[in-house]
Amino acid sequence: MSDCIFCMISEGKIPAQILVENDNFIAFRDVNPQASTHILIIPRKHISSTQDLNLTNYMLFGEMALIANKVAELEGITDKGYRWVVNTGNHGGQTVDHLHMHLIGGRKLTWPPG
Ligand code: AMP
Repeated sequence: MSDCIFCMISEGKIPAQILVENDNFIAFRDVNPQASTHILIIPRKHISSTQDLNLTNYMLFGEMALIANKVAELEGITDKGYRWVVNTGNHGGQTVDHLHMHLIGGRKLTWPPG
């Protein structure tokens, strides 16, 4: 989508600190990190949110998880642990309407989230 900031990152139209990418996904550092590791994993294909997962595209969610595991290993946070976050919609705190997983780690995280 032409006005989607994450599509623009995927297409190389705006810069990002990219860690991992392949034909289907790109993982890059969040511009406003909430911990020393805060990476966003996004499908290159524009999917607005988890609500738009369906029987045709749901496998992308599993691949997103595998990319997150790879990034966690690259960041060296697998031993101590980390958190995956996927926000959906206004009440979920989603601010960018392009499906993404946050991988957050590098410090002891609190629960419940705000
Ligand atoms: P969410 O609130 O779950 O939709 O998360 C969106 C995330 O995207 C936020 O953590 C933002 O800091 C992050 N973000 C927005 N624009 C950019 C950008 N250009 N590069 C990297 N991260 C971004």
